Amino acid sequence: MLYNKVFNKAKKIIISGPCSAETEEQLMHTVSQIAATGKVDMLRAGIWKPRTKPGMFEGVGSEGLLWLSNAKKQTGLPIAVEVATSKHVEEAMKHEVDMVWIGARTTANPFSVQEIADSLKGLSIPVFVKNPINADLELWSGALERIIKSGVEKTGMIHRGFSNYGNTEYRNPPMWHLPIEMKRRYPEMLLICDPSHICGNRQSLRLISQRAIDLDFDGLMIETHHNPDQAWSDARQQITPSLLAELLNDLKWRNEHSDKKEFIDALQQLREQIDMIDDELLSLLSHRMKIADKIGAYKKENNITILQKIRWNDIFKNALDRNIELGLSEEFMMKYLEAIHLESISHQNNVMNNQ
Ligand code: PEP
Ligand code: MN
Repeated sequence: MLYNKVFNKAKKIIISGPCSAETEEQLMHTVSQIAATGKVDMLRAGIWKPRTKPGMFEGVGSEGLLWLSNAKKQTGLPIAVEVATSKHVEEAMKHEVDMVWIGARTTANPFSVQEIADSLKGLSIPVFVKNPINADLELWSGALERIIKSGVEKTGMIHRGFSNYGNTEYRNPPMWHLPIEMKRRYPEMLLICDPSHICGNRQSLRLISQRAIDLDFDGLMIETHHNPDQAWSDARQQITPSLLAELLNDLKWRNEHSDKKEFIDALQQLREQIDMIDDELLSLLSHRMKIADKIGAYKKENNITILQKIRWNDIFKNALDRNIELGLSEEFMMKYLEAIHLESISHQNNVMNNQ
């Protein structure tokens, strides 16, 4: 019932609360401010914290679940926690937690995910699976499949970015193409974004949240704390509940569809143009590869190598000199040329060695 009420594709869900439950006072203070915004559907708080180094604050443990269930009574909002072991699931169930999620570090470990999946058998609460810390979609799908196989019917995904050594802009770069691919694989499943762990700071939260909305994510999980600078974990990325309310107000919520006739007609016309161009591009690419085949035949006759670095350096340079004028990003041009180059090599290889 909760899943249908709170987790509903027709409505964006907002989950918020501190990174960690620290003290009963901190939790109550934070959640009462959250509830006062009237904009949050569910409370979160980390009870068991997977920390990178020993000696860091590792969560208050089960005692925090008592505080969370008081928070639920006081605010009337459902509660969610991260679980990493079967014991955590058991404890969470004892305290009537409404939703659990599997954290990024746990998703990367099939043994742990299987242990959690087994302990969820027969339970009816929603389970969200965060992406694994590494950019591996199979690991993410694998974890979801383990949970689904154990009989959990209400599953969802949380995108929290992927760790990347040396990246300074984001704590965990979003790599948007990966959650987009997961949306393609699981079109019916809820997908929410956790901009807090993507950003690792407060400044970019708005930008990343808006990006997620523009990509039709089903909601946001954002960390809040009544006194973020003093937080015991993830202090740099947490915001106050009142800043959260401002942020949510500023976001431009968009619909996936519109019934407006002019809009539908204009979109249809533009899409027809795109389909025609895509068709032409594919025919041109096919034509281009036929020419590469001919070059392959000449190279074979004259015993010349397939790869000629100078020629390809020229092609890359000429194309990249034009990227601004063409309105195409350098990154896209590189990817496009590399793909063409590889296909061309494979065609010539075929001509030279298999014919
Ligand atoms: C969290 O949500 O506090 C957390 C630990 O996140 P992640 O698993 O994404 O690192
Ligand atoms: Mn956190």
